[in-house]
Amino acid sequence: MSRLSPLHDALTLCTFCPSLCHHACPVAAVEGRDTVTPWGLVSLVHHIETGSVRLTDDVAHTLYRCSGCRACTEACLHGQDVEGILFTARAEAVARGRRPHARERFQHDQAPRDPWWETGPARFHPDPTVLLLPGHRDLVSDATAVRKTLRLCERLDEAELACADASLLDVGYDLWAAGYRDEFALRAERLRQAVGDAAVVVVMSAEALYALKVIYPQVNQALAAQVLHVSDFLLPLLSGAVVSRVGGAVGYHDSCHLARHFGVFDVPRELLRRVLERPPIELRQREADTFCCGGTGCLGITAPQTAAAMSEEVVQMALEAGCERLVTFAPECVGGLRAAAGERLRVDGAITLIDEAVAGDEA
Ligand code: SF4
Ligand code: SF4
Repeated sequence: MSRLSPLHDALTLCTFCPSLCHHACPVAAVEGRDTVTPWGLVSLVHHIETGSVRLTDDVAHTLYRCSGCRACTEACLHGQDVEGILFTARAEAVARGRRPHARERFQHDQAPRDPWWETGPARFHPDPTVLLLPGHRDLVSDATAVRKTLRLCERLDEAELACADASLLDVGYDLWAAGYRDEFALRAERLRQAVGDAAVVVVMSAEALYALKVIYPQVNQALAAQVLHVSDFLLPLLSGAVVSRVGGAVGYHDSCHLARHFGVFDVPRELLRRVLERPPIELRQREADTFCCGGTGCLGITAPQTAAAMSEEVVQMALEAGCERLVTFAPECVGGLRAAAGERLRVDGAITLIDEAVAGDEA
């Protein structure tokens, strides 16, 4: 049976809907085409399911015009899981041999590693109780934020947190998002074994957090460890810490995974309030209404120009709001936003900002 058959009722619902969520979709907004609205994409999947459209490579290509941001789900009266439908349709395309994007593009083990990993991080431990797991390739190729997180924990007297071999492993989110489900399941099994007996896994990437907490259990690879986002881990540590508050006009960009997949708005803002001279500036679209910067759903690999245009929209919102600096708690958002911002706006991971405040003059 096709993976699409169980979705028949959901596919029919969108197909006969007057596209009531199209205004919410960032991909449709920057591409300006009906084909890539949630309605257009789900209708296409419906036609594939009923056999009225043949699943060719070109048709499969269109299925990758979605970042999985869930803005449409938020806008839909029925709460349709468009992300789930499209990512399942990609898996169906891959299973039928329709692969407009080769698997290797979503496997990141060969990505360059920051030499810091090879020389042995100061707080590297083969079997830590609290494992720091970056969870995104950008943090493996440039370990600056990882180093800062470890340094921050030392200054905050957190002695248990350490890196281990598992820290270098890609959690497989892109494989899952791109429809390479068998490869994802193997990756999840490998990572679960590498995590070993850690009691807590602190993950820095928001999409990796989603993978570990939501997708791993779906492939019977749930971690026994408690999985925390780094913001949840740092908030109690910062209580009572001596900080030199950071000045300037700093805005906060909600990542889709933290804000919409997990409904996390307050913890990141509370952390920023504790280290900034004045509260973080709010963008026009924020919290559950945040505008996806195109950094997830493997959109940067499958439709880089679209992803870049989405980042530009977020940068424009930050500039409109008077920001001189924009921070986010998702490393997958940082690269695209930084590239879009250029010299107009400084973009950082929030760890950098917190490290500045706690490190004081040493930063
Ligand atoms: S997701 Fe909801 S609002 Fe959007 S097309 Fe489908 S049924 Fe309509
Ligand atoms: S999940 Fe986001 S990108 Fe995908 S169709 Fe919905 S609004 Fe558009």
